[in-house]
Amino acid sequence: MKLSLGCIADDYTGASDLANTLTRQGLRTVQTIGVPPDDLTLPEVDAVVVSLKSRSIEAGLAVDRSRAAEKWLRGRGAGHVLFKICSTFDSTDAGNIGPVMDALRADCGEKIVLVTPAFPETGRTVYQGNLFVGAVPLNESPLKDHPLNPMHDSNLVRVLARQSRGKVGLVDLATLARGVDAVRGRLADLAGGGVGAAVIDAVFDRDLETIGRVALDHRLSVGASGIGLGLARALVAAGKVTSGSAGAVSGAAVGGPAACLAGSCSQATLQQVANAEKSMAVLRLDPERIVAGPDEARRALAWANAHLGDSPILIASSSTPDQVAALQSRHGRDAAGHAIEQAMAEIAEGLVRSGVRRLVVAGGETSGAVVDRLRIPGFLVGEEIAAGVPVLRAVGTATGEMLLALKSGNFGGPDFFSDALRLIR
Ligand code: ADP
Repeated sequence: MKLSLGCIADDYTGASDLANTLTRQGLRTVQTIGVPPDDLTLPEVDAVVVSLKSRSIEAGLAVDRSRAAEKWLRGRGAGHVLFKICSTFDSTDAGNIGPVMDALRADCGEKIVLVTPAFPETGRTVYQGNLFVGAVPLNESPLKDHPLNPMHDSNLVRVLARQSRGKVGLVDLATLARGVDAVRGRLADLAGGGVGAAVIDAVFDRDLETIGRVALDHRLSVGASGIGLGLARALVAAGKVTSGSAGAVSGAAVGGPAACLAGSCSQATLQQVANAEKSMAVLRLDPERIVAGPDEARRALAWANAHLGDSPILIASSSTPDQVAALQSRHGRDAAGHAIEQAMAEIAEGLVRSGVRRLVVAGGETSGAVVDRLRIPGFLVGEEIAAGVPVLRAVGTATGEMLLALKSGNFGGPDFFSDALRLIR
């Protein structure tokens, strides 16, 4: 297998978002959880997105993990690697974007790297190197108060220069507007002057296409899902991928019993759980009993085994904000959250033991706990059930074929669970 595009994402949700963007552009895409083992068998795909948890860890560790991911991707023929960062450029002056970029650039012997977190369709634009979040510069946006990576400077040339050992330059919008050759010329000039990274402006979606075309001349780029979209469109335009295959992921039915787990307490999920009662058997867990010990998970599995069959089941820990607050005040927020996540993971493991191969999970952290427990190394990304929530086909699992949907709290319409099961067959 020869990958057209390799991606290294610095967090899981960013990786999912990118994988979904690439799939929507027609690339057959696998998202892996961490750097996959060398013997992972992959279906024929155009792109692999390796999800790391390296955004807010110590820079040296982020560099090591990213280099291991790059080695894996290059080993599968990836000519171009995108280092996927957050579209708000989350990082402190001590890391991690600059050091990872420097290390990957050195490893692949690239002279100059294009950098842009722009994604105009989601309100992230870059002008004269300044990142805007909606109508305001980054340093006036809510990101100025981010608990881990507060952003006090909107000028990315300056931000990156403080993190990188190399020189950082700018390709401005006027140059970009003159087209790919103008951008290529500017990059050659910058590289000739010893500049190793060029922040590039982008204000409109079409700018991403120019950027994608030029980025493919190089071995590495740095950016968010926007540049991923540009790279994907450039690959499709160059005939390097076969467009339009997302439907194939959910195409082949897996069959057998189906189950849903809800650990999210978001407004949307509460509504979705209530609606699911019309079409499936629903068990509401007692959060207090979950925190008390393993009996509640056992009770849930006994209930599941009695109800699994032709129609799907749903097991939910979801409660209203008042109930959540009361539980947290008794046990602490982290302890309560962790206990419930682990109980959900335990239940998921038991369901799979009972033959479930179609699984829908609501809640970001809940999904992470479930995927870790099931030891799923990666997913082939399929068509969207709702905006941002694709059907996933597990790859490299010991249990064989499995279809999943992993939903962050607020995603999906009121009938999300039955919508998901219509595609997860
Ligand atoms: P979302 O995507 O909506 O943020 P997450 O799964 O990421 O959902 O987070 C929900 C958190 O709330 C998890 O840690 C989960 O274990 C916890 N949780 C689930 N049910 C309850 C409950 N009834 N009371 C308190 N915490 C809960």
